[in-house]
Amino acid sequence: MHFPSLPLITWTDKGLFCSAGGFHIDPHRAVDVAVITHAHSDHARRGHKKYICVESGVELLKTRIGKNIDVDTYAYGEEFYFGDVKVSLHSAGHILGSAQVRVEHKGQVWVASGDYKRDHDPSCDPFESVKCDVFITEATFGTPQFVWKKNLNHGEMIQNWWTENESKGKNSILFGYSLGKAQRILAELYPYAHKPVLIHSSIEELTNCYRRQNRKMAQTVLLKEKIKELIFDQRLSGELILAPPSILSESWAHQLGEYKTAFASGWMNGNGRRGYDHGFVMSDHADWNDLNRTIRETGARKIYVQHRDGALIRHLRQDGLLAFAIEDLHMNHFLPKAGENLVLI
Ligand SMILES: [Zn+2]
Ligand SMILES: [Zn+2]
Repeated sequence: MHFPSLPLITWTDKGLFCSAGGFHIDPHRAVDVAVITHAHSDHARRGHKKYICVESGVELLKTRIGKNIDVDTYAYGEEFYFGDVKVSLHSAGHILGSAQVRVEHKGQVWVASGDYKRDHDPSCDPFESVKCDVFITEATFGTPQFVWKKNLNHGEMIQNWWTENESKGKNSILFGYSLGKAQRILAELYPYAHKPVLIHSSIEELTNCYRRQNRKMAQTVLLKEKIKELIFDQRLSGELILAPPSILSESWAHQLGEYKTAFASGWMNGNGRRGYDHGFVMSDHADWNDLNRTIRETGARKIYVQHRDGALIRHLRQDGLLAFAIEDLHMNHFLPKAGENLVLI
């Protein structure tokens, strides 16, 4: 009797799992071997016995989850094996050291994208398009209203906002995620910043990881050091401050003086400024157009989409592609019902 092979990667209660290789990808519960696409907390969790990641991202991973983890690192494109399963990591352009995971077994190639973007970002390597039979894609912005302008010079735009506020004696407080977005802002500002950027302490060590990977960052000074230097009722003035929104409720917030606020995020697209004075549409995820472009570039015959909303799946199906929700990548989904033959990819 012929036993057809089951899918190379399945969606389990711990996340994506390659049973032929015995490893998980970005598991959300403790496992033996975890291939980690990048150091964001929804992908890199504590408690795995063994970690695998890209070498340029290992310091970020350790800063986030612990210095003493057991971790093997690989360069982009370097091949390694779990038994006869060949694996390699390819740049995802999301944050420093972010990877797509290419898995090859018995002539089949699967790619799990992790988070990715196609926009220019001087703080990390550019996205690499990888051919595959089956593509598992993130889709954070997987609805058509999330489309933004490309090739904007964010560094110059932030610098202009800063100098305009400075000319009015105001500070500029820019909010963005402490890992990835903050460093991208500092890298984009590198050619433009006319004085050091004041950063919150939550950003400092992560930024140093980028510097040690030779990423050029605008000069920075710790915000708390600058605040300490203030005498009597002195207030900050004309500074650019990169911090989490929580600083506005700190006991020393009055020392920030007058300020304007802005948020840098893909979520700034379309839905107004969400309570900030200004929004920079600056995402570390692919927009709707780039999701579609990327999926087609892979040449995949089958696409699994990781997103709550089914808009992208419906759109791909209308184009004649085989598209499914990631939850369908379950063993049972592939087992034949009574009287049916097992249909594989
Ligand atoms: Zn991420
Ligand atoms: Zn994510």
